[in-house]
Amino acid sequence: MTPDRVALTYRGRDHTYRELRERTYRLASALGVGRGERVAYLGANQPSMVETFFAAGLLGAVFVPLNTRLTAQELRFILEDAQAEVVLLGEGQSGEGLPGRHVPAAAYEELLASGSPEPIDKPVSQDDVCLIMYTSGTTGRPKGAMLTHANLTWNTVNLLVDVPFAHDEVTLISAPLFHIAALAQTLVPTVLKGGRAVLEPSFDVARTFDLVEAERVTVMFGVPSMFGFLARSPRWAEADLSSLRHLLCGGAPVPEPLIRIYQDRGLTFLQGYGMTETAPGALFLGAERSVDKAGSAGVPCFFSDVRLVGRDGSPARPGEPGEVYVQGPNVMPGYWRRPEESARVLSPDGWFRSGDVGIADEDGYVRISDRLNDVIISGGENVYPAEVESALYEHVAVAECAVIGVPDDKWGEVGKALVVLRSGVQVGTDELLTHLDGRLARFKIPKFLEFIPELPKNAAGKILKAPLRHLYGS
Ligand code: AMP
Ligand code: MG
Repeated sequence: MTPDRVALTYRGRDHTYRELRERTYRLASALGVGRGERVAYLGANQPSMVETFFAAGLLGAVFVPLNTRLTAQELRFILEDAQAEVVLLGEGQSGEGLPGRHVPAAAYEELLASGSPEPIDKPVSQDDVCLIMYTSGTTGRPKGAMLTHANLTWNTVNLLVDVPFAHDEVTLISAPLFHIAALAQTLVPTVLKGGRAVLEPSFDVARTFDLVEAERVTVMFGVPSMFGFLARSPRWAEADLSSLRHLLCGGAPVPEPLIRIYQDRGLTFLQGYGMTETAPGALFLGAERSVDKAGSAGVPCFFSDVRLVGRDGSPARPGEPGEVYVQGPNVMPGYWRRPEESARVLSPDGWFRSGDVGIADEDGYVRISDRLNDVIISGGENVYPAEVESALYEHVAVAECAVIGVPDDKWGEVGKALVVLRSGVQVGTDELLTHLDGRLARFKIPKFLEFIPELPKNAAGKILKAPLRHLYGS
């Protein structure tokens, strides 16, 4: 429709829709994968990542983006679980130690040149899976949330009901596209409307101000910690932010003081609550209510339903906590090759159990108040204590341990490990933290580690986190 408009800007170079389309067809024809097969991508935001996502979609194949912060050991597990046919490597990524066929960044243009620019017409249905995104879990093993073309389409429809993306939007994408929010809440709607996506390989405060000013950015998505970094920067006061129209913020609770700091600059957050499994939008808080309903994550997205379920299974009344359940055409069909874990979170009538606790007010605005599964959200990355604990247990000196989240001004939360040593064993905190290096991605490594004499337990011997949070959680 708009072949000569710019689709992507990366490192100062513009890529038109015509180029994006031709390159995507070339890649699709050259990839050598069929419907349903998995195409993994390891890299930061860059054009080849977007091309791989669309090429897989054209073929009815499945895009599996990998988190660049994971260690080789973590990536190996995911690639084997996904049984990926091929792994494309972005700039600066090494495929060393990773299973399967690789396309190094240096061979990417050659691969494209070997493909055909002719349109591809493969049968693809809305119910075909187009994306598998791995999230860790309470069991510690990462699992792949499958999202279909329909899931992403309906999430986009939900988003466009609430956010009037225009055809001339300039969207700065510096949150990683291997997470659902950047992919589904910024890239997809921008490209769908014929806007321009400015891709940045990572978030950097100075670059963000430079780009907002130079490119006249109109849309930005960030987790709260990103917006916090901007507001605390010395550039904040002087920066020209007049081009910004839509500031999308979610992934973790948005602190009320942050809302006010932006409000003082005439900038209003559009807040959202969601998760990978719901592609991701579930609740949305629009600009009009962002101040008087500050602290809430909003009301259900238009084509989705959210309900709060009390402990006894009955609907929670206003003011009462309940687990957040989500239903709608954006809800995933399940986890890849994990029927049991899928059945645990998805009811036969399509309700997804989030594991989050929410409280609705009299007007139906939901505040996310707690998480049932102990997950720690640090700078927008989820850290599952069970995964960190099992890595700690691999050290001989550790008799027992528990990891909790503690509040942090910069990251929202950081991990704190409480460790009981085997009797008679001497080991320093440094040694245990070094032990985690290489086993776990850096963002999962607890910022604090303390030795304590014993852990509180219930009668059945289960470690109790609530008293630990009370004693050590600050
Ligand atoms: P993920 O599994 O990485 O997609 O992260 C989803 C989780 O992030 C949710 O289950 C919530 O615990 C948390 N989350 C997302 N958005 C919000 C929000 N606006 N307020 C509070 N927690 C949120
Ligand atoms: Mg989750």
